[in-house]
Amino acid sequence: MSERKKTKVVKIGNTAIGGGNLVLIQSMTDTDTRDVEKTLQQISKLCDAGCEIVRVAVFDEECVKSLRKIKDVITIPLVADIHFDYKLAVAAVENGADKIRINPGNIGNEQNIKKVVDAAKLAGAAIRVGVNSGSVEKEIEDKYGNGAEALAKSAIQNVRIIEKFGFDSIVVSLKSSDVSECIKAYEIFSAKSDYPLHIGVTEAGDYESSIVKSSMALGSLLINGIGDTIRVSITGDPVLEIGAAKSILQYAGVRKFGIDIVSCPTCGRCRIPLKDIVKEVKAGLKGVDKPIKVAVMGCIVNGPGEAKHADVGIAGGDGRGAIFAHGELIKTVDENRLVEELLDYIKTHF
Ligand code: SF4
Repeated sequence: MSERKKTKVVKIGNTAIGGGNLVLIQSMTDTDTRDVEKTLQQISKLCDAGCEIVRVAVFDEECVKSLRKIKDVITIPLVADIHFDYKLAVAAVENGADKIRINPGNIGNEQNIKKVVDAAKLAGAAIRVGVNSGSVEKEIEDKYGNGAEALAKSAIQNVRIIEKFGFDSIVVSLKSSDVSECIKAYEIFSAKSDYPLHIGVTEAGDYESSIVKSSMALGSLLINGIGDTIRVSITGDPVLEIGAAKSILQYAGVRKFGIDIVSCPTCGRCRIPLKDIVKEVKAGLKGVDKPIKVAVMGCIVNGPGEAKHADVGIAGGDGRGAIFAHGELIKTVDENRLVEELLDYIKTHF
């Protein structure tokens, strides 16, 4: 794994991203922002799942009014997502948005962008320059096509406009729906700039498609040290995004969220109902926050050796199973006491 890129630290409300700060999990509500109650209900569910920054769509004056009410209740940073209307962007930061996500390319001329920047400065809000493959400026597209290079050029050009007005609380995203283009765009930009990056794949699809695309793109970027906030976009319940984001962060080795449970795929040697046992172990360790890896293996012959990397594990036998640690046998127990003994061992030894 590469060292994490040291990006600039940018304050977002009561937290900070970039630099050595944690890579934070972001999601976006899919409720009508004008419906404050519904939006708050969803934010509460997102927070319970582990969301750390929440974005809401702001598309009219009513949404702006909601921002203040939402901000008064929630404790995580609030991001307003704005397109086309600079006045809404100005009003959003004046009404409590800790960050606004804009695409300067569609906010209008530089004078309008200046007004947004001035308002953000005054309110202490950050600005995310969010470019995506569908929003690259025509002149850039004519020169660089519509791939990763164009996305990076567009982001740099827009960042320069904002910098011109003496502002640097900037976060950047360069989302594409194409996995390799997405990775490349972030890599190109990251090599040229130190602004923190919000990473994500746009229009990633339903749960299944998004998990695969996001794991590939975000996983690859994170392993290579790129990314300061993360969003797994899913067509579906946004709460699902949080679990997926946690897994990607954990498996990329960037953050730890409780115990890492690994299990073998089973084969003809397996003599125990491993699928059910994995479920039992998962349920038994739910909420246990210890930085360990637990292996659940199908057979005693190969299991302990195959799971040498695990801190502790169990392997099934015929009637009796084994508890092992780092590949070494600790004891054998009756098969029906295997899970219970494992949970006890974890409780007393870690
Ligand atoms: Fe097969 Fe045993 Fe390996 Fe599981 S641990 S895949 S059951 S050999």
